[in-house]
Formats: sequence, C-alpha cells, structure tokens
Amino acid sequence: ADFSSLGLSDWLVKQCKQLGINKPTPVQENCMPPILEGRDCMGCAKTGSGKTAAFVLPVVQKLSEDPYGIFCLVLTPTRELAYQIAEQFRVLGKPLGLRDCIIKLNETRLPPHVVVATPGRLADHIRSSDTFSMSKIQFLILDEADRLLEQGCTDFTKDLETILATLPAKRQTLLFSATLTDTLHELKNIAMNKPFFWES
Ligand code: AMP
Repeated sequence: ADFSSLGLSDWLVKQCKQLGINKPTPVQENCMPPILEGRDCMGCAKTGSGKTAAFVLPVVQKLSEDPYGIFCLVLTPTRELAYQIAEQFRVLGKPLGLRDCIIKLNETRLPPHVVVATPGRLADHIRSSDTFSMSKIQFLILDEADRLLEQGCTDFTKDLETILATLPAKRQTLLFSATLTDTLHELKNIAMNKPFFWES
C-alpha cells in the first residue's frame, strides 16, 4: 500500500515524500484508514515503528479540512516525547501554517491547533486556571499509554478524569502503546468508544 491508497490527500503525500516518508510502516498501514474514517483506535506500537506519524498524518489531514479552535490534544509521558511529537506536527503540518504546538500552555497568544502535554502538567493547569477552552477538541491521543500508567505517573487516572471532564464526549480517541495489557482496557473503558484494535 502507499499513503494515497490509505486515504491521505495529495498535498500531504507530497509533504511526506519531501521528508523521506515514502512507504507506510505496518502501524501506519493498519491504523490510518480507521482513524481517517473517524473511528477510535488502539494500536500496539513501539518507538521507532512510525506510530507518531500514524496519528499526526490523519490529524493534520482532518485539520486541513476543518481548522477551528484547539483541535487535538496529545498526552505523552515525558517532556522529551512531547517535543518530538510537536516537531512532527510542525514539520508535517507546515503547508497548513499549523500553529506551533505548545507544551507550556501559558506561553501562547493565539490558540494553538495542537496541544502536546504531559498529563500532570495539563491537569495542574486546568485546576489552577480557565484561560483556554478545550471544548472544541476533536482528537484526544494517549501516546505510550503503558508508560502513562506506570510508576511516576500514578496520579494519571485522577489527572485523566480532570482532563476528560473538559473535553467534548463527541471526539475521536486514539491510543498507542508498546504493550496492550489489562490495565489499558480500563483506560479504554474510561476514554474510548468501540475502538478499532490493532496488534502486529
Ligand atoms: P516514531 O516511531 O514515531 O518514534 O518514528 C520514528 C522515526 O521514523 C521518525 O523520525 C519518523 O519521522 C520516521 N518515520 C515515520 N514514518 C516513516 C515512514 N513511513 N518511512 C520512513 N520514516 C518514517
């Protein structure tokens, strides 16, 4: 398969080519079509599998069709990962003039298209202020979900409840994890709606 046959627009296929992204990886080939069709999706994928582009590309394509408000929220376990994800949005979304993804939420003037954050920091922000609205979010992405649940992120469930309460119920939720364990099924029940499920 190529990216066109998976449902990506020509301008985005071209953008991928310029970045040396020519052939879909397995997680991209399997997860992008259901995401582009509007389904929730749970995918088993490690760092290095191309999982970031598997969600960044569909979100950038949907954003090009309907840009409005904060469009997508990505929750990821560490600041380093947040910067890497923000970079892929910036690079792949460049033709759209996609506004810089932000991690430090109080540093922005225009509302961003994409917010990439660690759950603790975002939940603290929500509890301490009401400076921005997430009521128009169309995508929630739980990146490296197994690590989000790990030690060090033990307040994650509480933080996620705080965050979910600010998001519209009608949204698309995507989850990527290196392993799909029982604890993730709990997360699935809290945050997702009949997801497409892919494991290599
Ligand atoms: P990730 O698994 O998301 O951490 O991505 C690992 C690296 O692979 C990133 O630098 C991406 O830019 C790159 N990448 C993602 N998809 C592809 C692809 N289909 N072909 C070549 N490189 C890719």
